[in-house]
Amino acid sequence: MRVAVLLVVLGAIAAVLGLQVLASFSSTATSPIHVPRSEHRRALGEAGGAVPDGTTVFDDEIPGVANLDSDLLGALRRAATDAAHDGVEFSVDSGWRSPEYQEQLLREAISKYGSEEEASRWVATPDRSAHVSGDAVDIGPSVAAAWLSEHGAAYGLCLIYGNEPWHYELRPEAIAHGCPRTYADPRHDPRMQQ
Ligand SMILES: [Zn+2]
Repeated sequence: MRVAVLLVVLGAIAAVLGLQVLASFSSTATSPIHVPRSEHRRALGEAGGAVPDGTTVFDDEIPGVANLDSDLLGALRRAATDAAHDGVEFSVDSGWRSPEYQEQLLREAISKYGSEEEASRWVATPDRSAHVSGDAVDIGPSVAAAWLSEHGAAYGLCLIYGNEPWHYELRPEAIAHGCPRTYADPRHDPRMQQ
């Protein structure tokens, strides 16, 4: 009887030890190659044009900035340098986007706004988006967008849509003539019509 109890206890101890060994083996085996899923998503997103918080117009290593039209980027950098003298910092909330990323944003907007028609007030299709061609940038925070609405024309940087006070594109003629009138929203922009 005593032997039987001893064997059961020893068996239980062995089982616990075995589990611990297995557990420690599996954790040490996976940790060196384990990368959190969010890191993968961010890497894929950045390559497609998603930008990390705090991205500036000077961040050449970030595709969302680097793939912008070079004249637009030059104007943004001149404006950002002058704005900094006024104590205003520009951040890039969105710049160049891959067609796939634009498509993803459009799908999200359709599910958020409930229809393609309503989503089209905010997000263009990949074949029409000025973000996909590298010709548009969304500037934040609102104090920076406000600085641009006041001073942007001098750099050729213009607000295009009344409903998107953060969305800027290059209109070189604005330096001499001022920015053109804004469209109420993208549906009124001839470029967005089929
Ligand atoms: Zn935009």
